[in-house]
Amino acid sequence: MENNKSFLWPQGILIALLGLSASLSIGLMMLIKPNASEAQSGQNINVSNTTARVGTQKRIEGLKAAMLTSWQQEAQIKGLSYAVAPRFQGVTIQSAKLTQGQKVIALTFDDGPWPESTAQVLNILKENNIKSTFFVVGQNVKNYPDLVKRVVAEGHAIGNHTWHHWYHYMNQQAAAYEVEHTTDLIYKTTGVKTNLFRPPGGIMHNGVAAYARNNKYALIMWSSDSLDYSRLTVPKLINNVFRLAKPGGIVLLHDGGGDRTKTVQALPEIITGFRKQGYSFVTIPELLEMQDKDHKLIANKK
Ligand SMILES: [Zn+2]
Repeated sequence: MENNKSFLWPQGILIALLGLSASLSIGLMMLIKPNASEAQSGQNINVSNTTARVGTQKRIEGLKAAMLTSWQQEAQIKGLSYAVAPRFQGVTIQSAKLTQGQKVIALTFDDGPWPESTAQVLNILKENNIKSTFFVVGQNVKNYPDLVKRVVAEGHAIGNHTWHHWYHYMNQQAAAYEVEHTTDLIYKTTGVKTNLFRPPGGIMHNGVAAYARNNKYALIMWSSDSLDYSRLTVPKLINNVFRLAKPGGIVLLHDGGGDRTKTVQALPEIITGFRKQGYSFVTIPELLEMQDKDHKLIANKK
C-alpha cells in the first residue's frame, strides 16, 4: 500500500503538474500569440499586411481626393480654377493689349511663399481689397504650405515659378521635373491647377521655358520691373513700377527669395499711386480673360 501510495502520489503530482503545465502553456501561448502568428505566417505576413496597407492607402487616397475636391470646389466658386484660353497656351505675354480702354494693372509677386513677407504682402492686399498673382517656387510651397493655402483662400491667383528657381541649362527631364513637380504640389496643396508659368530670372533659353511652352503653359513675363531684387531705395523701387506702367500692364514684384522689407514698405504707395491714376487691379487670369474677350469682340466686328 505504501508502495502503491508512494506510486500513486507521484502520479497525482504528475497529473497536477501536467494540468499546470497545460494551463501555463495555454497562458503562454495566449501571451505570445501575436508574435507567434506573425512568426508563423512568415511569407503570408507580407501579403496580409500589404492588403491591409493597400486598404488603408485607398482610404487615405479617398480622403485626400475628397479634401482636394472640396478645395477645388472652393477654388472654383471663388473663380480660381482657371483655364487659360487656347490663344494664350504656349504664348509669351508681357502685357495685355486691351482696346476698350480698360485701365487695369496686374501686380505679380515672385519667389514665395516666404516667411513674414508673404503674410505682410497678403495683409496689405487684403486691407486694400486687391487680388494679385503669386508665382510660387515649388520647394517653398513644400516648406510653407499654409502660406500658399492662404494665398488661394484670399482669392489670389497662383502661377508656377519652377521647383528650384535654377538659372542654369536644364535637359528635358530636369525641366519636366521643375515644372510638373511644382504644378502637382500646388494642386495637391491648394486644389488649383495652374497653367501660368514664369521662368526664373525671365530666362527663356535654358530649357525650362521651352518645356513650359511645349506643354501649353502661358508664359507670363512683365511690362514693369520694380527691380526690388536689387539694392535700391523704396522711392526708386516705386519709381521703377510707375515708369513703365500702362493699362493692361504686368508689374514684377517679389514676396520671397530674400529680404523683401522694401517691397512691403513700397506696396501701399504703389497701390495708392495706381488708384490715383484711375487703375483697378486684376489677376493674370482676369487680365487674360479680358484680352480674350477683347479679341473676340474685334473678331466679331470684322
Ligand atoms: Zn524668381
